[in-house]
Order: sequence, then C-alpha cells, then structure tokens
Amino acid sequence: MTIDPDKFKLISKSQFGQFKNCPRGFYYQYVKKIPQQMNRAMYVGIRFHAFSNQFFDLVKVKDGEMLFPRDKDFDSDPEINDMIGNFIDFERKFLETCSDTKYFYPLAREIRFDVKHARMKGIVDRIDLNEDGTLTLVEYKTGSYEGKKEIPSYLRQEHTFYKVLIESCGLPPGDISPRLKDFSVLPEITHMVVYSPKESIALAEPFKKRTITAFHKRFEEVLVQIDQNIKETIEGEISVDDIWPANGYLCNYCSYFGICKGAEQ
Ligand code: SF4
Repeated sequence: MTIDPDKFKLISKSQFGQFKNCPRGFYYQYVKKIPQQMNRAMYVGIRFHAFSNQFFDLVKVKDGEMLFPRDKDFDSDPEINDMIGNFIDFERKFLETCSDTKYFYPLAREIRFDVKHARMKGIVDRIDLNEDGTLTLVEYKTGSYEGKKEIPSYLRQEHTFYKVLIESCGLPPGDISPRLKDFSVLPEITHMVVYSPKESIALAEPFKKRTITAFHKRFEEVLVQIDQNIKETIEGEISVDDIWPANGYLCNYCSYFGICKGAEQ
C-alpha cells in the first residue's frame, strides 16, 4: 500500500479525535481508507445537520416574531422530525432573548477552514455574535445530554480545536463572514455551546485558559505521533498489527471490530 506522506499535513478535528481514541482506528479509517459503517447515530446527525443548516436560509423574522411552520413534517423519520421540532422551538425562544435579529442569525454556518501553518482543517457548525461583540461557537450534537451540568471534556476539546483553528486562520474578519466586515480584527471567541435537539438542551460555558493550554500540548503530541507512525509505516519499520496501539472499551462501538486484531487483545 502506498501512503502519501503529505496527506496528513492538515489534521481535522475528527482525525485528531480518532487518533487520541485509538491510533489503530485512525490507521484503518484515514490511512487504509476503510469506510466506517453508517450507524443510526451517524444517519441522524447527518439528517439533522442538513436541516439546521438550511433553516437559517428559510426562517424570517417579522416584528420580533419568528415566521416558520412548526407543525409540519420536515423529515419522514419520526425521531429526526421531533429533533427538528425541538430545534425550531428552541430558536423561537432564543429569538425572544435577542435585542436585535443580528444576534439571532448566525454569523457563519458550516464554514470550512484550512490553516497550513497550524496544520489544522475543519468545518465549523455555527458561529454566533454575542451582544457584547464577542463570538460563540455552537456545535449540534444529536446524542443524549440529559442530566449533564457541563460540557463533556471531549466536546470541550472539540470546541477548543475549532477556536484555535479559526483564530489562527489569519483571514480578515470580513473574509470569514461578510457580517464581520465592519470588524478590523476577529472578535474574541469567548464561549462554546453544545446544542442537543434530542432533549433540546443547550450546554454553554466560557473557554478557559487551562483548556486551551492543555489542547495545544495534546495536539502537538498527537501531530508528533502521527508523523512518526506514518514515517515508520512508509519505511516498513512497523506494521499496524505490531505497533499502532489499540484502546480498550471503544472496541465495542468500533466499525473495525471485525477486522482488528487489537480488539482481540
Ligand atoms: S476495534 Fe478497538 S483497537 Fe481496533 S480499531 Fe477499533 S477501537 Fe481500535
């Protein structure tokens, strides 16, 4: 098998997460390019994201009221349709808290960044402008977060990935979003939000310095490990079954369980 050494010059949030969870899974997915089996969670996530992205192109606001049908079937799948209904209700309530519609409509949605010098790439779900002029990163997660008081640490790290990615892109604010063209510098990204349409829960918290410092350290470590593993694999010094280490309990949920010798260990 030929491996393109330049393929991992830019690392996505998913690649970073996969390598942290299980380097062997990273190898199967991104080096050997064995597709993951589509499961229910992936299917629901894709369908919900398709709707949520389209929603802000369609929704109108008149006299402070959101004009959007609620009792319509937007998806033939009842579970996804319920999530969409929750999302519409949530956005309607959110609008009531906004002093201006410019805070209701996201600044950017599904926006792609490729940042060579930071070796990062990714597509950000949503960036909102806060009333104090700062920014919030919003990610939609279709899993269950009932009873959670704070954002789980792995999602905190995902948001931090995107914050670092956006802040290191070096683009003028107006190039990131036309709605930022009046800003001479990119406003600070101060908050992260995880919105789960399943229970219509929004978990919000500020970015903390120690989270960002820990992220930089971990990201650097992962880059070094990826580069080393790729180099040694290309040079024939290691094989996936010998060296790329495996990780325990995740095997139960892994698409590669059937082909992975690591799962048997
Ligand atoms: S089965 Fe386990 S060890 Fe193998 S790739 Fe999946 S998570 Fe990693």
